[in-house]
Amino acid sequence: MKAELISTGTELLLGQTLNTNAYYLSQKLTTLGINVYYHTTVGDNPERLETALEQALQRSDLVITTGGLGPTLDDLTKDTVCKVMGLERELHEESLIWVQGFFAKLGRDMPENNLRQAYFPQGSRIIPNRLGTAPGAIVEKGEKIVIILPGPPFEMQPMFEETVESFLQEKVQVTPETTLHKVYRVFGMAESAVEEALGEVLTTPEGVSIALLAKQAEIHVRVAAHAQTALAAEQLLAGLTPKIESKLGDAIFGIDAEDMASSVGKLLRATKLSLVTAESCTGGLIGGAVTAVAGSSDYYHGGYVTYTNGLKKRLLGVERATLTKWGAVSAETAREMASGARLRTGADIAVAVTGIAGPDGGSPEKPVGLVFVGLATPDDVLAYRYNFFGDRQAIRALTVNGALNRVRLYLLDKAREAN
Ligand code: AMP
Ligand code: MG
Repeated sequence: MKAELISTGTELLLGQTLNTNAYYLSQKLTTLGINVYYHTTVGDNPERLETALEQALQRSDLVITTGGLGPTLDDLTKDTVCKVMGLERELHEESLIWVQGFFAKLGRDMPENNLRQAYFPQGSRIIPNRLGTAPGAIVEKGEKIVIILPGPPFEMQPMFEETVESFLQEKVQVTPETTLHKVYRVFGMAESAVEEALGEVLTTPEGVSIALLAKQAEIHVRVAAHAQTALAAEQLLAGLTPKIESKLGDAIFGIDAEDMASSVGKLLRATKLSLVTAESCTGGLIGGAVTAVAGSSDYYHGGYVTYTNGLKKRLLGVERATLTKWGAVSAETAREMASGARLRTGADIAVAVTGIAGPDGGSPEKPVGLVFVGLATPDDVLAYRYNFFGDRQAIRALTVNGALNRVRLYLLDKAREAN
């Protein structure tokens, strides 16, 4: 199935809004095994939208539009779809009641214009919108499918996940070819080292290809399997999994959507251990990553952000002598930050970071990118030294993953001991 995305909205062309809908939908379609061949962005202009739709329907089987479903006159998507596909508009009673109810709940009168939101190309399957007044629609004619979704990402995404995804899944099952992807996420190895470790695994069977992608603070090993059916593609992927896992071992911290923090969270839950953080150069980013995972209050106590020496001493009990003798960026300070955080909160594990994120503040002995991770556990208090490379943002992102990776490796050992 060949797909094309049409993003509408003059704000996208003016550079006022980043086209995150195309990014989101492309990821979703690719995961479903649907090939996205074109992204088109068009302003709120009826002629140009018509041209874009005509062209898309000529070259693609599936067209997904976002935007242009508002109540105002510059919201043209449905009318234009009707025109291009040769369909009448028809009133959808339930949508009318929904839009009216939406205003009733707000205690406001419904402007006449909102009536437009209850009209759809005839024969459409309506996609409910829990979070806004603009329902979407799935329009099928002959072999072609047009899916109409609203622009606001917080409305569009749940609509895709609740209605469109399962619809497309069914469609893809019967199409003759499918590509599935699986991403192994690796930390602690350079891209070239990953390639070397994979060795003969990279010589893949027919229908499979492996790509290495350097992402910020991690390497992705993306496997694509192309087969006649989704099941066959899945089997190709499954055949490769044990080989990749045996070559890369614990360097793989997650698969697909599993990031470092969710991987650590899963292990903390499994081992019933708790975590506290003490951060200097990351200024709270580690705590941010940990708490981005829903349910993290089950295992995360909280964190200290101790940017100055004064706060490292006062909040964490780092010794003045340690700071004077070894400096704030040192293995000794990282260890004292970690053990201070652990003892003062009663968490099982404390992870601490101190480093030089740059661009200033480096010296020959302590260059930009030098980072120490302290790890205090019931077993030991250790420090690890890293020399990260990149700009300030990259070094901080690497520090987040580097610190959490230390926690992960410790927890992996614990989980294995327990088994
Ligand atoms: P709509 O009224 O359906 O055209 O969409 C209204 C709002 O959705 C716009 O003001 C944008 O903020 C947002 N929006 C529309 N298209 C996109 C897009 N492709 N990516 C991200 N946001 C978008
Ligand atoms: Mg718009």
